[in-house]
Amino acid sequence: MADVLDVAWATEWVRRSAAVVGEHRMELIDLDRAIGDGDHGENLDRGFKAVLVKLDNPDTPKPDSVGDVLKLVATTLMSTVGGAAGPLYGTAYLRAAKVADGPTVDAAGVAALLDAAVGGIVARGKAEVGDKTMVDAWTPAAAAALAVADGGGTATQALRAAATAARTGAESTDPLVARKGRASYLGERAVGHRDPGAESSALLLAVAADVAEAAGAGAAE
Ligand code: ADP
Ligand code: MG
Repeated sequence: MADVLDVAWATEWVRRSAAVVGEHRMELIDLDRAIGDGDHGENLDRGFKAVLVKLDNPDTPKPDSVGDVLKLVATTLMSTVGGAAGPLYGTAYLRAAKVADGPTVDAAGVAALLDAAVGGIVARGKAEVGDKTMVDAWTPAAAAALAVADGGGTATQALRAAATAARTGAESTDPLVARKGRASYLGERAVGHRDPGAESSALLLAVAADVAEAAGAGAAE
């Protein structure tokens, strides 16, 4: 079985992302209500629903590359999500799209794509690891994918490692004081609450790995 991710994987990642964001909408709203303004789940749900509409629109050109799919996500999220997360996610997907400009992505490609996404988020938001933002999920995710790629692992294994690291990263935000975004206004009161953007990031990366595993990409040959 091929050790690469393709356009069908990217499309299914997006479809499942919309479903999972919908399923976790209330949870993300509650997290953002605790340390922000409560709109994160609503915004992301609206954004991914719009992505599906765009994807299913017969006037939308059929994607030829993984990057085409990610670019569609980027532009739609940028124009529909709003808040801090809209431009941050939009930039992440857009930068990822640029490095995934072929029909398939291998393990090194997964690492490059995630690294580009982190670069986009940091360029926009100027947050560092430990600031209690989505950077706390994406940075270890990209590092974990790179370690798997360097070790000769498959694209799917790289994604699974990224998802696991993002989950740990999201959980690591619980005890932190926020230094960026709305939660930073709360000071110590943010302690004990998970960052909503780190949680949604972990959910999205878990879906990426789940879809790759379900497709059988990266299975040992
Ligand atoms: P808003 O804060 O405008 O209401 P959202 O609720 O949609 O936007 O998104 C909040 C999330 O955005 C936070 O949980 C955090 O992960 C992320 N975030 C906010 N500011 C930054 C930043 N400067 N850098 C990285 N991520 C950030
Ligand atoms: Mg908010």
